[in-house]
Amino acid sequence: MSAVQGQLPLEGMPRRLYSCTPSRLNAWLDCRRRYRFTYLDRPQPSKGPAWAHNSVGASVHNALAGWWREPYERRTPLTASILVTNGWITEGFRDDEQSGRWLGRARDLVSGYVATLDPADDPVGVERTVATRTKVIALSGRIDRLDRRGDELVVVDYKTGRRPLTQDDARSSLALAAYAIAASTMMRTPCRTVELHHLPTGEIVEWRHTDESLGRHLRRAEEIATEAATGDERYRELVGAPPADRGRASGAAPRSSGSASGPSRPGRASGSPGVSGDRPSAGPAVVPAEIDELFAPNPGPICSWCDFRRHCAEGQAAGPERRPWDGLAE
Ligand code: SF4
Repeated sequence: MSAVQGQLPLEGMPRRLYSCTPSRLNAWLDCRRRYRFTYLDRPQPSKGPAWAHNSVGASVHNALAGWWREPYERRTPLTASILVTNGWITEGFRDDEQSGRWLGRARDLVSGYVATLDPADDPVGVERTVATRTKVIALSGRIDRLDRRGDELVVVDYKTGRRPLTQDDARSSLALAAYAIAASTMMRTPCRTVELHHLPTGEIVEWRHTDESLGRHLRRAEEIATEAATGDERYRELVGAPPADRGRASGAAPRSSGSASGPSRPGRASGSPGVSGDRPSAGPAVVPAEIDELFAPNPGPICSWCDFRRHCAEGQAAGPERRPWDGLAE
């Protein structure tokens, strides 16, 4: 039993709803130290430089969302191409030549994909925020696209990474299941099918959930949330709201030109300075040993892509440092 599991609240004790996104729950599962750096330490420890693969992903997602907001007669492959160009995020690339080459690829990717769509078939939602709640959790997130097919809704998630997708990716995704539950609740319409649209290959991977499989995902989300909420509470008890100029954490490594979140689960770059390495740098909060233990590192391959690697000795020892453009499929 983990330290956190050992501190679950007493049965029947009221507890406020744990508000979260699927990303937050997955962060708790992946690495609790990274979870702490991302969601609890304030000011947030500085991140490494932006990743080029995240810039590609965000530019493509933004263009696809923008395409549906165009009037019907402008929903063409050419418009898609123009939207990619106009919204291109240049952060993380080695140089202008590399950025330009990937802009060309992204234009081809998006224009090729929209050529397979019916521009008259308006989705129910694009970049749509959905939310649902249980007695334990208030879960929200943003769906790339929500389609209506017959009497049902379908969750569509765009993927731009190099890794080919499997049906297991769609079946096991807590985020997709949560979106299906939330969309169904909010729109009062059945939503059991989730789809991953892999733009580089044009492949669509689909999974049709049952009420049971959606229920299992929701229970799993509640279990993770219960653990994370207990960790959050302990953090608040022992650390409280950190002052703006807290020093560096115990066990933190000297800074290097570290890097971030990894091609297997790229974060969505926003094009804002928030993901840039140019902002003022801050170290993690100074925390008691109990908190360091509770939010233990989980070193592994993911560390080469962790935004907070520069603050984590264990992560630096776990794998090589990556350059910001190393996640591109070159
Ligand atoms: S470098 Fe690895 S162990 Fe350290 S915070 Fe990041 S993911 Fe966790």
